[in-house]
Amino acid sequence: MRIGILALQGAFAEHRMILEKLGAESFEIRQKRDLEQPMDGLIIPGGESTVMGKLLKELDCYDEVRSRIENGLPVFGTCAGLILLAKEAEGGKVQLGTMDIAARRNAYGRQLGSFAVTAEMKGVGEVPMVFIRAPYITAVSGTTEVLAEVEGKIVAAREGNQLVTAFHPELTADTRVHDYFLHMIAEAKA
Ligand code: GLN
Repeated sequence: MRIGILALQGAFAEHRMILEKLGAESFEIRQKRDLEQPMDGLIIPGGESTVMGKLLKELDCYDEVRSRIENGLPVFGTCAGLILLAKEAEGGKVQLGTMDIAARRNAYGRQLGSFAVTAEMKGVGEVPMVFIRAPYITAVSGTTEVLAEVEGKIVAAREGNQLVTAFHPELTADTRVHDYFLHMIAEAKA
């Protein structure tokens, strides 16, 4: 199993480390050429969604990434990655817009919005959740399933091949959310 990690900006190295722990191969996507490699899944990391969206376009990766996701490539977006996938982005700009969720950017406030909790994620169990200037999901539609809520706000969801978390599982020692994503990829391949 080979997973591409969008490495234009943000917390991509941490995702690679978790995948390594799980025995999954990964590679960094820094330019259009990198998208030619065999890829079973894609991770869009946390960072700054506006910058990442701009770089996707400037590096001419936007159309390719978007159509791969639309065609069923399993994708996992964390934090800024969630915003990039959202069809509605309050306080930001719609970027890839492939997933039936409405995201609110910097939903917990810009500076004081960093905190950690432990909460239940459907299909995974109780997991530590680290939030850093995080968004949350204000609404889901279509076939999107809510996977986790913290204080009444949706912080994880899945729609078919697309998984998003408002928190950063790559910043904890817990590998189970990534393992869940690897299972999504295995299902897609089967
Ligand atoms: N606030 C960032 C954004 O709007 C997301 C923060 C993060 O990814 N940790 O893109």
